[in-house]
Amino acid sequence: MFHDEKDLPGDSRICVYGAGSRAARLLRRLAANRPDLEVACVVDSFSDGGMFEGLPLRNVAHLAEETFDYLVVSAYRYDEVVRTLSARGLSPRYYVHVDCDPPAASPELLTAPPRERRQVLDQFEALSRRRTGQVNVTLTNACNSRCVFCAYPGYTEPRAVMTREHFARLASSMAAHGELTMDFSPLIGESLLDPGLADKIRHARQAGIQRLLITSNGLLLGRDEALLQLLLSECETISVSTPGLSREAYRRIFRVDAFRQVLDGLRQVAAVKRRLGGGAHVNLCLRSPRPPQAALDDEGFRELLPFIKEGLLFFDPGDGCVEFDNWSGALVAGQLPEGLRLKPPAVTPGAPPCDFILRGACTALPDGSLRLCPCRFLETLRDDLVIADPDHPDPLAALHGPRHERIVLDWLDGRLPRACAGCSLYRPCAEQNT
Ligand code: SF4
Ligand code: SF4
Repeated sequence: MFHDEKDLPGDSRICVYGAGSRAARLLRRLAANRPDLEVACVVDSFSDGGMFEGLPLRNVAHLAEETFDYLVVSAYRYDEVVRTLSARGLSPRYYVHVDCDPPAASPELLTAPPRERRQVLDQFEALSRRRTGQVNVTLTNACNSRCVFCAYPGYTEPRAVMTREHFARLASSMAAHGELTMDFSPLIGESLLDPGLADKIRHARQAGIQRLLITSNGLLLGRDEALLQLLLSECETISVSTPGLSREAYRRIFRVDAFRQVLDGLRQVAAVKRRLGGGAHVNLCLRSPRPPQAALDDEGFRELLPFIKEGLLFFDPGDGCVEFDNWSGALVAGQLPEGLRLKPPAVTPGAPPCDFILRGACTALPDGSLRLCPCRFLETLRDDLVIADPDHPDPLAALHGPRHERIVLDWLDGRLPRACAGCSLYRPCAEQNT
């Protein structure tokens, strides 16, 4: 293992395994400090073809075709990389890069001056007297899609599903604190992969949760009609992300051959809604670099038009998305297919804490812990935004508590959470007079 690139053996031709932000930082340092090392290519388990940081990107399946002296593994779960190599019968000499630097820390992020600091702390104090509005729940960090604009394809943490016990504790805690909206929009993952979803929805209702919302990639909507009926009866909104309704769109953007499966599921949604005489607002949210008007010409949208006209399904063109965020730096320019643009990091020097942090917008993680920010993370869910551990008897009590306050104070001192410094979803607190 090495931390400093200066420790690598010299005058060599190498390959770098990993196509994430960690590898990008290493490659930049190698380019700056190790002219004696020639990087032949970047190797990855998911990508094949294209360029990464100006170097050819190869799938691990083609590693045996490369000529190199040694491999540098620069990936969060290097143990899995080593297993992958071994499963493919490859045994190159390799070094593991341990990135000890704060992943996205920026030396220019300044400590807040006293007046701004006081304002932020007053705001934090005022917000602590309000309800946060909703709690997001990441029931599982497993997903059945591989969207190009998501960190999931390079995400290596073990997959888990929230236990019934942790869910019950969360629901009781929410009800006790008057937080009565639960949103199954995960930080990462697909909620319909949780085999206990129906049970959890019923439990949430019994615990007193009044509003249930869910976001899904739609791949499993048509798998279980009883579950679909429950979702339509109990949820206020079901948001279905779609890259457009054509085979090509699913293959290119979601990288799964699921077009017909999703279309059949949406037809079933419409049929069950018609039978129920109502039910959840089912909204198709476009996640595609194409303009919404172009996506509306897709074969699937044309087929669904009668249901859209009947009000059984909705398509909100305003939900279209031509620019994608950078997943806290996990996605870097050049990694995405042509036509997809990445928003740059949005935190500027001296910027106040992100709105999500000040308000206590949060998500419950599959292991039962509670974490600030329902939007993004970098490499690990269990990071420095966690404010309540899995065994906390009343996780919502941690909101605006000492651990939460510490995160705000650290930010004001220039120490940003690992997910935040390079995040393009950062936004300052909208309300100045709370
Ligand atoms: S965006 Fe959602 S559906 Fe797509 S890979 Fe990521 S977690 Fe899965
Ligand atoms: S900066 Fe990004 S990761 Fe940090 S709280 Fe805001 S949205 Fe979340």
